Amino acid sequence: MFMMLTGYKLEVIVGCMSAGKSSELIRRIERARLAYLPTIIVRPATDTRSKANHVESRNGLASKAVVIEDPKDILTYAAHALVVGLDECQFFSEELIPVVKMLLRQKKKIIASGLDLDYRGEPFGTLPTLMAMADRVDKLLAVCRKCGSDFACRTQRMVHSEEQILVGDAQYEARCIHCFEPPGEFQLRLELPLMGENPIVADAPQLSLVAG
Ligand SMILES: [Zn+2]
Repeated sequence: MFMMLTGYKLEVIVGCMSAGKSSELIRRIERARLAYLPTIIVRPATDTRSKANHVESRNGLASKAVVIEDPKDILTYAAHALVVGLDECQFFSEELIPVVKMLLRQKKKIIASGLDLDYRGEPFGTLPTLMAMADRVDKLLAVCRKCGSDFACRTQRMVHSEEQILVGDAQYEARCIHCFEPPGEFQLRLELPLMGENPIVADAPQLSLVAG
């Protein structure tokens, strides 16, 4: 290890689907390669969308990746890397966290990406922990496929399923928080208490938080 590693040690890139997480991960890994740093990208076997041994972004960027079943195997594959890219981290088991801690102790730089929220809008897998451990977090936004706004932060499931993990792009679309319809939301809304005379509705006018 002769090369100087400066900057952030654990960078986390999160967001909903189609927010550009994988292309941002590939971009940062390519920059490390330009700096002559040995790199590796690892992705979980659960993610079947990319070709085997590749990480691909929807804008066509691609990079070689090692497909891993057990996060502990990352330690073996990353032994000679100084910069470790972890794609689709929501599909790794909880075992990823001690592995990341070990990589940090080995003075490696880690760039992890993944969905921060699942289809219900709930924190997804190891991402909340990774975000807390990180010294840099970037939350990317997508374009809402319903209203076209630039602020999509939720992954809308378009089919009925109770499984947290349901792989496939066709079953999902990026939605902003106003257009997002979590499963069971309608029933939930019926049980919300009334505020004064007016029921709380999703499209109520937004309050400004800026003092006048
Ligand atoms: Zn929208």
